[in-house]
Amino acid sequence: YLHINGIRKTFGDVVATDHVELEIAEGEFMTFLGPSGSGKSTTLYILAGFQDPTAGDIKLRGKSILQTPSHKRQIGMVFQRYTLFPHLSVGENVAFPLRVRRAPQAEIAAKVKRALSLVRLDGFEDRMPAKMSGGQQQRVALARALVYDPPVLLMDEPLSALDKKLREEIQHEIRRIHQETGVTILYVTHDQEEALRLSDRIAVFNKGKIEQVGTGPQLYASPATHFVADFIGDSA
Ligand code: ATP
Ligand code: MG
Repeated sequence: YLHINGIRKTFGDVVATDHVELEIAEGEFMTFLGPSGSGKSTTLYILAGFQDPTAGDIKLRGKSILQTPSHKRQIGMVFQRYTLFPHLSVGENVAFPLRVRRAPQAEIAAKVKRALSLVRLDGFEDRMPAKMSGGQQQRVALARALVYDPPVLLMDEPLSALDKKLREEIQHEIRRIHQETGVTILYVTHDQEEALRLSDRIAVFNKGKIEQVGTGPQLYASPATHFVADFIGDSA
């Protein structure tokens, strides 16, 4: 469904990702797990179209999307923090991707309402982001990413700035949204517990390469390398 085909990305002498190869099924919840600097974000940015790979291809339903500009890729994205436009209301933040796509006004209002309902923020349209908690702001970011029904949603450590209780609450919401919408999710974290709780499969990154891909239990039961054993084992 979504094929990351031998992606390599270098910044001068730094190899950020090296021949990353991964096939993601439609509706799958795939998590990139790995230490700092292992190439997780770089892979997401290339998928989102924020960066071009040095080599390799990205295919969605068999078609390369590398030539498609970022805003036309039908891929939603949620970042770690500071993702909302502070001068826009919640409603206008969520409406933004629809305005970029020049959707009609009536459709915008209905879709914003539905997206806010999906993240359990019904009626928050007129609130300003600064007057909301970190968890609420991340829900707004999630609503904005989902408002135009993208088939693929990328999330780069969306919960790492939140405290444990909020994190667990929003993890729960993300799981529910995944089930309700069937959206294909690529999720980045370096929290093993979070990866195990959320994912269908986990891709373990190390130094720009994927060491192993599998379900949580598979990675636990038969780690392919010492690195995977150490990294996954940490959370036990
Ligand atoms: P973290 O968990 O800390 O977010 P990550 O796995 O997301 O790490 P990346 O951000 O993908 O890691 O970075 C991979 C490597 O590429 C790192 O060595 C990083 O320093 C380097 N890198 C990433 N972006 C750039 C850039 N714009 N210019 C130069 N080097 C970069
Ligand atoms: Mg990162």
